Amino acid sequence: MKVHILGASGGIGGSARTTSLLIDDDILIDAGTGVGELSLAAMQCVDHVFLTHSHLDHLACLPFMMDSVGAARGRPVTVHAQPATLEGLKAHLFNGVLWPDFASVPTPQAPFMLYETLNVGAECKIGARRLRSIPVNHAVPTVGYLIRGSTGSIAFSGDTTTTDEYWRVLNACDDLKHVIIELSFLDKDEQLARISRHMCPRLLAEDLKKLKAGPQVHLTHLMPGAEDELMTEIARHVPRNTPRRLMRGDILEC
Ligand SMILES: [Zn+2]
Ligand SMILES: [Zn+2]
Repeated sequence: MKVHILGASGGIGGSARTTSLLIDDDILIDAGTGVGELSLAAMQCVDHVFLTHSHLDHLACLPFMMDSVGAARGRPVTVHAQPATLEGLKAHLFNGVLWPDFASVPTPQAPFMLYETLNVGAECKIGARRLRSIPVNHAVPTVGYLIRGSTGSIAFSGDTTTTDEYWRVLNACDDLKHVIIELSFLDKDEQLARISRHMCPRLLAEDLKKLKAGPQVHLTHLMPGAEDELMTEIARHVPRNTPRRLMRGDILEC
């Protein structure tokens, strides 16, 4: 299994792209502005999109992708998300005002897109890959994912502040190779991190104590412009086995 990092920033500007991960060539986790890095041919291969939550930085390119490849694909893209996220998409995005309702366009019988409700905590099998959604702790209902390939697993937190369930599920996984966790705000903005339910280095360092040693830890969703300072702060809190910064273009394999 290969996970190609298309976007790993908390915002845009210069080379920064927002959250999107491509699993092999057919599954996207989130559809932030990183999706714009894919060629048209690569976009056409995406059969499944698993969303973590409804915030725009995680799905901004989903409407454009559907518009660009919907007609050429000849079969729908399945969008998997928990009920609150799907309701948000239907009411506020694919609502015929901001963008066409691609779940009924061009016809309700053969639409460009299908909605599939995630059973949070359950596992969804796509070919040889199994994706388990894990509830995390963010400003809107959000899940992370444990993605299991045939020879190892990769975990992605989505957006979250302090969480227990994510680490509990990860600690029970016996072939975990890579852990991706968000880090958004500097320690001076801890109050903002708490209110918006993101991580700052101090909160993350406390949370990382819940993870059993073993997997490589990667940091994502860093605020644009604050990346170097965030990495300095986390290195101060976690001087040994300091997590690395996840970069756009990285490929994690297992
Ligand atoms: Zn968010
Ligand atoms: Zn976000």
